Amino acid sequence: MIDTDGIYARASAKLREKMYLLKGQWFEKRDACEVCGVDGRPQHQEYRDAVGRVLYNWTHELKKEPIFEQRGKRYRLINRDFKTVKPGDFSSKEIEFVWPYGIDDHTSFQFDKSISIQKGDVIGLGGEGNKGKSLFGLNVVTGNMDIHPTTLVLSENVHRLEERLSHFDWVDIYKDGDWKFEVLEAHGAAEFLDIARERCNNLIVFDWLSVTQEAYRVAEFYEELGKMLDEGVALVIQQKRSYKDYPVGGEGALDYTSAFLLLQSGRISVEKAKVTKDFDPTGKMYSFKIIERGSRFHDISEVKNCHQCKGKKYYQGDICGDCNGTGYKVVGQYFTDEEVGYTEDIEL
Ligand SMILES: [Zn+2]
Repeated sequence: MIDTDGIYARASAKLREKMYLLKGQWFEKRDACEVCGVDGRPQHQEYRDAVGRVLYNWTHELKKEPIFEQRGKRYRLINRDFKTVKPGDFSSKEIEFVWPYGIDDHTSFQFDKSISIQKGDVIGLGGEGNKGKSLFGLNVVTGNMDIHPTTLVLSENVHRLEERLSHFDWVDIYKDGDWKFEVLEAHGAAEFLDIARERCNNLIVFDWLSVTQEAYRVAEFYEELGKMLDEGVALVIQQKRSYKDYPVGGEGALDYTSAFLLLQSGRISVEKAKVTKDFDPTGKMYSFKIIERGSRFHDISEVKNCHQCKGKKYYQGDICGDCNGTGYKVVGQYFTDEEVGYTEDIEL
């Protein structure tokens, strides 16, 4: 004897909880099943049927205020929650935001002076494997924990957090025996969105977003994330595929972020800066070093691609002599001997 009423009740509760993931798009029954965690396995048949009945009932039986509209096999969530705009909504939304900087030498990513971060903003940081993305995230957390309620969401290396933080000796990260920021372990876009909904007024750093297992595209994740945030701000760290210029999700990730940074092999470039103050840093690139066991940035400089090798590091089959194989040159400075490996300075 199958408890169909219980299954129906569970399916409707689950769909009610997860249907925000289906907002703003036409979807089919299998998409609704997927957000509810129901897949194509034979033992899920009863649940698939139940989800189907919920969709039907919420479309047809709630005559007064149906939740979905239907066209053929596709459904759409009817939105009754419109975003209203009031006078003054777009003024004074800027928040104080401390970007990472060179702790020991006081060098800075100069975009920190110009990018304006506003309440509700989503910032993206894409990059290759082990190149400093988590360091960037941790520095955002510790830089802002005294001025904003801050949440760090980790999807991996949770066990390494204490060791990494033990090198953050320039700042007091403890209060009453606990960290001054909250640390949550979570995996995947759906859980991240749940956290954003619950912490919509916090500064949230997501380290990092894995999208390979998710059916929902990255752009949709960013869009949803922006809607979840109220006065809070989110920094999303996501993996870049080495063979692509953009992180997983492509340029779509840029559409719904207010700032997008790309971190690769000792350099950060500004891919997007929506609201800026004295200059637009879009397209600018900054080199850096990482010191003290991966706890801090150092020697940050604005750089440009080398004219000779065009940033490719090789020229006519050899390591480019003009930039010594780095692919870039520091803007408005000479290379130091150590960087160049020569005894004489090279004029730019
Ligand atoms: Zn070069």
